[in-house]
This record gives sequence, structure tokens and C-alpha cells, in this order.
Amino acid sequence: MSPDGLAPDAEHVPADANIPDNYVSFTLKHEKALPPVGWENIANELNWLHVAILFGTPILGFAGAFFTPLRWQTALWSVLYYYMTGLGITAGYHRLWAHRSYNASRPLQYFLALCGAGAVQGSIRWWARGHRAHHRYTDTDLDPYNAHKGLLWSHIGWMLLKPRRKLGVADISDLSKNDIVRWQHRYYLQLLFSMGIIVPTLVAGLGWGDWKGGYVYAAILRLVFVHHSTFCVNSLAHWLGETPFDDKHTPRDHMLTALVTIGEGYHNFHHQFPMDYRNAIKWYQYDPTKWFIWACQQIGLASHLKVFPENEVRKGQLTMQLKRLRETQELLTWPSDNSHLAVINWESYQEQAKSRPLICVGGFIHDVTDFLDEHPGGRHLLTKNIGRDATTAFFGGVYDHSNAAHNLLAMKRVGILHGGSPHGLEDKMIPPSQRLRVARYNEIGTSGYSSAALSDGEGLLG
Ligand SMILES: [Zn+2]
Ligand SMILES: [Zn+2]
Repeated sequence: MSPDGLAPDAEHVPADANIPDNYVSFTLKHEKALPPVGWENIANELNWLHVAILFGTPILGFAGAFFTPLRWQTALWSVLYYYMTGLGITAGYHRLWAHRSYNASRPLQYFLALCGAGAVQGSIRWWARGHRAHHRYTDTDLDPYNAHKGLLWSHIGWMLLKPRRKLGVADISDLSKNDIVRWQHRYYLQLLFSMGIIVPTLVAGLGWGDWKGGYVYAAILRLVFVHHSTFCVNSLAHWLGETPFDDKHTPRDHMLTALVTIGEGYHNFHHQFPMDYRNAIKWYQYDPTKWFIWACQQIGLASHLKVFPENEVRKGQLTMQLKRLRETQELLTWPSDNSHLAVINWESYQEQAKSRPLICVGGFIHDVTDFLDEHPGGRHLLTKNIGRDATTAFFGGVYDHSNAAHNLLAMKRVGILHGGSPHGLEDKMIPPSQRLRVARYNEIGTSGYSSAALSDGEGLLG
């Protein structure tokens, strides 16, 4: 540790400690990608090991199932083992190691490292490295499963082909210090075969004598389902559903994705709050991974479950709600902007009101030509106010008009009466539909930080 206590240990310098500030744009511009894949070069560009695993297992599994009767014990065991190995990925590889969203005791870490190996998706080190790049460079070419390259690519294509360019840098020096992660990486091949094939077969074989069923259903077919379950997080969860927290990138929330991914389907939330141990924040949403981690905490196997501040989560939701409201707002037609209206004096107003029906309300001059016969109270109430100030009459003197009437009136503005909008008239000047208007920050005249501008600049930071 350096004297200032901030620099990292020499032997665990983070991989991204010395990257330039313009790393992303620079790398994308200057590091060449491999050529596009076509029929002429596909044989060279395929990762044949991945092709063999990812096509071999479903062929073997479904063909095997055709010749192997499914016993109920084996069916039950296959589903259970699907969840165990799936949780190895979701609760282990993903939420524990890639995101450090909670602390796990050693027994729990061993359990997750073993189960994760049984899901046959590479070692924790390899998986977390890619996943951290995915979060850091989401939707760019430095993201290994860049969703902009299509559903097929993000689901499986990125593994079938050789990586088209080097992954974006992502630090995993914390994982290098973890002895269980190092152990799993070192013995990965042995663990893969034991947990992926041998254990599921052995349990069914020794348990109820169904060796072949154990191999076909609990080992091979279960593996196919776990694979595509995880792959759906990269494909489906970046394609299907809503964006309740942010729409800057592709991640989306959908119950269907959650159902097939053991709860990883609330992916819009996850990309916004990746350190949160939850993916679903509502109790009724399907997130068994969250329930599992919570249950582990209850029995003392997990601790320090991280939760993003509710206040900040709600800000994201509110922003998106306002954004949608703003879109609705922009579809509507609004009264002319004050700066586009002519300012005229009282004499001129009266003069012009002789040739067309002009009425002054709340400091604005309105042309009611097309409304004379539409006025619910009758034409006479309008005509008697032509050339006069009808503010009091409009706001309760004769009839306390509805919000709708005020909104409609504002659409008929043709001018502003010079000196006709003294203070205290704001309520009468701003139609109800515009009092809670969704305004962009640059549409608001005064800064929200004006009090700082007024201070002497020598205050202490709070
Ligand atoms: Zn993602
Ligand atoms: Zn993640």
C-alpha cells in the first residue's frame, strides 16, 4: 500500500488502472476488429469447441430422450439440478462474483462454485471478466454480447464465432485474490465433468437405478436448458419488455424473461443498479435468485446484501414516467408562447374590439369569433364582455369556469394587454393544464442552484 493509503497493492494493480481517459472511443477507433463472417471464411472463424458443445448437447439430449423413458424421480431430480446449477450462475457467478452484491460464507462459495461449474459456462474468472465488460461497455463493440448486433448474436453467436475484437478492459483483481475462485479456475475441467455429467448421473443411478435417465435428462438435457436460460439474459433481456428505470441502453424488464432465467429478467433494473442483490424489487415479481440469497442470509450463510437507496431507485422510475408524460404533452397543441403575442394597450384593445369579438381575461386578449355560438352559457354573456376586462366575471363573478374552459380560453389568445398582468394574477394567467407542465431543464428560466449563486462562495460543503 502506498503512503497515501489509496493506491492499490503492487501485485494486484487493477487492469484498468492506467487506461487513458478516452479509452472507449480510442480503442473502438484504433483497434481493428476481425473481418465480417461470411460463407467464405466461416470455417476459420468458428470456435469449433463451442460449436461442438452447444450443438452436440441438444442433439445428444433429444436423441437420447427418444430412446429413454423418463421416470418421475429423474424428472424431479433434473428440475432440482437445473435450479441448483442455474443458481450457481445467477446467485454465484453473476450476483456474487461479477457484481459483489453480497458477501458469501466459504461453504456457500464452494456450493456456488461447484454448482456453477455444473452449468458448463466457463470458470468464474472467465465468466465474470466478460460480464463486467458487458456492463461497462453495454451496447458497444467492447461488450462481448453487444445486443445491437442482433438477438442471435447476443444469445449464442458471440460464443460460436471467435470474438470479433478484444473485450473492453474490466478489472477482476478482486477475484484474483479469492482462493475459491482461483481453485475453481485451476481445476475447472475436472469440476466441469464431475458436476456437469458425473454427479447428476450418479445421483439418479445410485438413488433409483436410472443411470441412463440420469445421464440423458439430469446431465445433458438439463445442461441444454441451463445454457439457454443464461443465454436468454443476454438476448431476451436486452430485447423484450419495458424500460421503467432508464432507456439509454437496451436492457429491459419482462416477467417472461424472469421465468426462464431464474429471476434475471428484470434486467433494466439490474443494469441501472448492478450492485443490488435483487433484480426484482416488488415482492410479487419472480426472482428466486433473490429469495435464495435472502434465505442464505437468514441462516447465516450470506451477509451484507446490498440494496440501492430506494430514493434513487424511485428517481429513475419518476424520470421515465415524466419522459412518457412529456411525449404525451408534445402531442398536444398548447397556447401561443407569451413572446409570440402582440402587446397592446387598453385603448388599442378597445379600438380593435369594435371590428372583431375580443375579450380580455387575466391580462390576455382573446379572439372568441369561433366560440360565440359554442359558449355553453350563451352568446350574450360573451358579447356583453367584448372590449371589456372579463377576468372577474370569468373566475367566479358570473360563473366559476371549469379547468377545461380555462384551457380552451387560453387557446384563443391573440395578444397581451400592456400592464394588464399585475402580480397575483398567475393562477389566472396559467391554464390548469400547464401548471404541472413537464419542462426540460433548459426550458426553466432560473437555475435550481440560485441560492449558491447568491452566497459569498466561501461556505463549507455540506
Ligand atoms: Zn445485460
Ligand atoms: Zn450483471
